[in-house]
Amino acid sequence: MYALRPDYSILFVVFVNIVRNKRGITLYAKTIAVANQKGGVGKTTTALNLAAVLSAKRKKVLLVDSDPQGNASSGVGVFDTDGGANIYTCYTDEGQAKNCVQKTRLKNLSVLPSSIDLVGVEVELISQENREKKLKAVLRSLKEEFDFIIIDCPPSLGILTLNSLTAADSILIPLQCEYFALEGLAQLISTIRRVKKTLNRELYIEGLLLTMYDGRNKLTHSVAEEVKNHFGDQVYKTVIPRNVRLSESPSHGQTIIEYDKSSSGAKAYIKLGTEFLQRLKREM
Ligand code: ATP
Ligand code: MG
Repeated sequence: MYALRPDYSILFVVFVNIVRNKRGITLYAKTIAVANQKGGVGKTTTALNLAAVLSAKRKKVLLVDSDPQGNASSGVGVFDTDGGANIYTCYTDEGQAKNCVQKTRLKNLSVLPSSIDLVGVEVELISQENREKKLKAVLRSLKEEFDFIIIDCPPSLGILTLNSLTAADSILIPLQCEYFALEGLAQLISTIRRVKKTLNRELYIEGLLLTMYDGRNKLTHSVAEEVKNHFGDQVYKTVIPRNVRLSESPSHGQTIIEYDKSSSGAKAYIKLGTEFLQRLKREM
């Protein structure tokens, strides 16, 4: 006769999951919002190229295009004109999430594409309860299928960015190395604090990334120094150089590792992917 014994292996798995969850390393997708309300600082370039690099490192990645401009979607070769379901569909019907995800050319990279209709979400959600928690609900059903979900936010602190910050575990902030880089950062930090207080207690800063770095420019150096003095280790060691190949690749609907893997821009994003994963290991 067999004695009834508890299944310790299951208990162990449950325990490990609880510990991992506490440390932000879930067995579900880790969700990162790439956000900065300042326009043109490299959010989309970072979101889609980091997503591509992680997918090339055999991580299953979902790129969520939360900007009505749709640049992240077109940057991975998915266009609004392709028709089909998109993130706007999800905002109106959360149950549609799985039908809205599209595969890209890259094996491990999928995208939840944007639509110009997203412009209307701000107004349409105004009278709805829990309007900042819509995207969180949409992504909940997708989390088991991916290792990482990377959300490209629009250049505002409106409802779409609030939804992204509520759905995310962490925020990655790209900063362009120019005189006004820190302008608006205080407002972003206070928004993060507000979100932490009211909508997402666990949200934390994944890292600050210096973009469009020009080593020959003195101003770039002083901006980088100032950011590092303020934020210390939170600033990625990897900096993204100004590189024309990075600005060309989206018009071909390609990520930088497809368009020109040997360019300085590609090398920088590959390095960022490595640093990003190393930091996660250290957190463990
Ligand atoms: P928005 O606020 O409008 O969403 P964004 O913050 O997403 O903008 P991007 O679209 O990524 O910024 O970049 C702005 C422009 O700068 C784009 O034309 C992009 O191709 C270009 N760009 C981004 N990063 C670099 C870089 N490192 N070197 C050269 N050009 C770059
Ligand atoms: Mg953008």
